[in-house]
Amino acid sequence: MATPDRTSSPPSECDIVVVGGGIVGQAVARELLARRPGARLAVIEAEPKIGLHQTGRSSGVIHAGIYYEPGSLKAQLCVEGSRALYDYCDEHGVPYSKSGKLVVAVEEGELGRLDELERRGRLNEVRGLRRVGGDEIAEIEPNARGVAALHSPHTGVTDFVAVAESYAADVEAAGGTLHLGTSVHGARPVGDKLEVEHSRGTTVAAEAVFCAGLWSDRLAVACGAPADPRIVPFRGGYLKLAPADAELVRASVYPVPDPDLPFLGAHLTRNFAGDVLIGPSALMAPARDAYDLTHVRRRDLGETLRWPGTWKMMANHWRAGLIEMRNAASPASFVAEAARMVPALAGAKATAGPAGIRAQALGRDGKLVDDFVVHRTEHAVHVRNAPSPAATSSLAISKLIADRLEQAA
Ligand SMILES: Cc1cc2nc3c(=O)[nH]c(=O)nc-3n(C[C@H](O)[C@H](O)[C@H](O)COP(=O)(O)OP(=O)(O)OC[C@H]3O[C@@H](n4cnc5c(N)ncnc54)[C@H](O)[C@@H]3O)c2cc1C
Repeated sequence: MATPDRTSSPPSECDIVVVGGGIVGQAVARELLARRPGARLAVIEAEPKIGLHQTGRSSGVIHAGIYYEPGSLKAQLCVEGSRALYDYCDEHGVPYSKSGKLVVAVEEGELGRLDELERRGRLNEVRGLRRVGGDEIAEIEPNARGVAALHSPHTGVTDFVAVAESYAADVEAAGGTLHLGTSVHGARPVGDKLEVEHSRGTTVAAEAVFCAGLWSDRLAVACGAPADPRIVPFRGGYLKLAPADAELVRASVYPVPDPDLPFLGAHLTRNFAGDVLIGPSALMAPARDAYDLTHVRRRDLGETLRWPGTWKMMANHWRAGLIEMRNAASPASFVAEAARMVPALAGAKATAGPAGIRAQALGRDGKLVDDFVVHRTEHAVHVRNAPSPAATSSLAISKLIADRLEQAA
């Protein structure tokens, strides 16, 4: 099949527009075309390539579903989504490695939180989850040390851009079109349709789904949705271990996380490319695309600082914020945190690795929104919060969004 042109302008009319061509937008587009064969569907993506934001800047971990509150959408979609993703990768020849992971309690004082994680993992029906003692930790990860751990053999790693590209190829094979380099500004109802305004004109569609990640709140508000929650960008920087030190880590080693924070703590991941990364950190960023920390956008910073939730969140989490700032400023302290779990890493050499920005939804009340959030406006559905593990959960999320769109019709 000839490679489809992804640079053309979006059509002036179609049935469905999907805004945002990250892993969630591509999965949604694919699901909608599977349910409505022959529909005229256009995916509109601002960047010239797929995966330039969260999808291409993650740890690449296929999570098994241990952490999430039982009964939450996050738990349900992760467990369902990881199974669906492994099946998809097998069927479509997308490579992955089911390398497994350990969540290690280093001290007795962490055992209560490890018990709670185990309880959650069991209620979430995480496949193969096992509690292991100190000796078994060393059998699985010869250099890791702890009093107890949870072992998740069905956790894996992949390249989420390759997954998103494969979804995009499915979309095109089903007759959908991709329009890269086209930025959407907003949409307004016109009669019983929606007029989507973008940098190359307008597209009138019967309905639209917005999967715009770091910019999802702005587009939702532009379509008439409430301002709450706001996206506050959190930069996740990684360190990369030098090859000799990377040998000390087989797969993924995670700490027991702080239950008050939606982030998993600085962990060690052997990613799909084979590098061992420490991170990611979690620092509020001065721009929604502040991959380079010197990059500041006045509008982004102003929106973060004017949001009442920002100040409430900082008052609640200032201690965690200080630790994150210390880790971001000092690679040695970040390495020392990882060396709690793998003592042989003490003093290891690590250089600055990649960085990603999390689209973290923050409520007006200062609560970091942990679960997936979906809003509806006239003729449209908006994904307002799709944090980690949304890449893992992408196929399950796509079914939920397609259901919501059908209910809205
Ligand atoms: C540091 C980090 C580590 C992570 N680790 C993991 C992990 O190990 N496992 C896991 O499952 N998840 C992980 N995640 C989370 C995961 O990456 C995201 O949940 C997922 O990629 C979200 O996909 P998305 O398509 O919603 O967002 P994105 O990939 O950000 O895509 C949104 C797209 O919308 C486009 N867009 C935005 N505004 C417009 C507009 N106005 N017009 C047109 N297009 C627009 C953007 O250009 C972008 O391509 C991590 C995230 C980060 C940041």
